[in-house]
Amino acid sequence: MSGVVIVGGGPAAHRLAERLIRYGYGGEVTVIGAEPRLPYHRALLGSVLDGTLGADRLALPALPARVRVLTGVRVSGIDRAARSVRTGDGRALRYDTLVLATGARTRVPAVPGLTDRDGRLAEGVRAVRTAADCRPLSEGPAVVLGGGLRGVESALALRRAGHEVVLVHPAGHPMDRHLDAAGGAVLAGRLAERGVVPHLGRRAAEYTPGKVVLDDGQVLAAGNVLLCTGTAPDTRLARTAGLPVGTGVLVDSRLRTADPRVHAVGDCAEHAGAPGATVLGAWEQADTLARVLTGEDTAHRAGRHPLRPRVPGQDLVVLPPGRTPERGDETVLLRDAARGRYARLVLRDGRIRHGVVIGPARAVAAVSLLYSRDTPVPADLLALLTGADGTYAGAGELPDDTVVCHCNHVTRKTLTDAWHGGARDTAALAGATRATTGCGSCAPVVRELCAALGGRDARAEGGTR
Ligand SMILES: Cc1cc2nc3c(=O)[nH]c(=O)nc-3n(C[C@H](O)[C@H](O)[C@H](O)COP(=O)(O)OP(=O)(O)OC[C@H]3O[C@@H](n4cnc5c(N)ncnc54)[C@H](O)[C@@H]3O)c2cc1C
Repeated sequence: MSGVVIVGGGPAAHRLAERLIRYGYGGEVTVIGAEPRLPYHRALLGSVLDGTLGADRLALPALPARVRVLTGVRVSGIDRAARSVRTGDGRALRYDTLVLATGARTRVPAVPGLTDRDGRLAEGVRAVRTAADCRPLSEGPAVVLGGGLRGVESALALRRAGHEVVLVHPAGHPMDRHLDAAGGAVLAGRLAERGVVPHLGRRAAEYTPGKVVLDDGQVLAAGNVLLCTGTAPDTRLARTAGLPVGTGVLVDSRLRTADPRVHAVGDCAEHAGAPGATVLGAWEQADTLARVLTGEDTAHRAGRHPLRPRVPGQDLVVLPPGRTPERGDETVLLRDAARGRYARLVLRDGRIRHGVVIGPARAVAAVSLLYSRDTPVPADLLALLTGADGTYAGAGELPDDTVVCHCNHVTRKTLTDAWHGGARDTAALAGATRATTGCGSCAPVVRELCAALGGRDARAEGGTR
């Protein structure tokens, strides 16, 4: 075997293999994944956890027959001189080009009892990283360790699935990397309303099956412990092969490591100082690399992707931090605890660099639009942050290329085409495009679009009568 060998069977590997064939790559393409199943959409795991999506619905579209996919096979080493990879089952596979798409791993905190002597997670403890991690939980409360974005999402997903949920987080409020105390209080209120029991300002000190002891001595019953304690790029293969690693595997604008035959994409890669962390980012890198490997002279430029955490009943957007704060950055704050509204935006030259908005759907939609398009904010920031200005004029007015469903990357144009093709309500559009079948946070926009298109048609018919 030679050609392109891709290590990792996640969304980045899947998209790269698909794009290589689409862009006319003539050689062999092999994907080697350690998980026992074909590539699937990892960002939808929250929907499996809350029971709205069966694990069998996660599959990404089948790859062209020319792509060879090995599942349940772990690559254990790289011999760069011989241009081959070793697999756990003892094979050596040759490559012309090697791509690392090994993703990220959960950080396991150093709490006695969470792991056994071999470093394996103890009975009752699991990460939330793979489809296997979403198997049914044991009886008894679920203790979620870590109240960052994934911890908040997981706690709420488990509540929706009917579990008792306790959230343990060392800071005084959830999502403290993104929110100050005032914003954190708004979010904590939502968690409490949904029945999540918080233990804030606390850490787990010890675990034994069935219970977690906190650092103040409190003992929590625990049917399961879920680790939402952050992730780190999986750089093990690159490191042992002598490739430069920062937080992730260091790559240049052609997504190439220090070895011109070896590339890296997705959560394992660090491009322009930023390790990967989003599925859209992984897909963009895969697309760029497929172009590079099929001869296009192109350089990667990361897109601007707002994150929409799944907090049912609460519109919320997180705009990932840019690189470093600069002189002249301006911070705009809106705190309105009584109405459950909060916004913090950091602006540079009148454009949004990063921030967070909790609050009216229209404000969240407008800020997301301005951020992803990198367009200047309007003069009346208060109107923007209260959803009272016209930046977001409703789904009917969104530009065609706006991504409405981020989980499945469905644009407004795809939805509009499906609507004109006969899919006239949310359920039919979901069937035709997969929009709303992920986290579901785009469902209101899809409904709004249906109504707008319906209204438009009715007006058009009225006009011709
Ligand atoms: C619960 C959850 C919710 C998420 N929600 C969102 C969201 O809403 N929006 C968003 O943008 N992102 C979200 N993400 C992040 C998103 O899933 C990742 O950014 C994306 O999966 C990255 O894709 P990847 O292919 O780079 O890595 P991964 O998806 O991590 O896949 C890497 C694969 O490589 C395999 N592998 C590793 N080492 C080897 C080896 N040596 N040999 C063979 N195979 C190997 C792994 O087993 C894994 O299957 C979420 C993640 C999780 C866990």
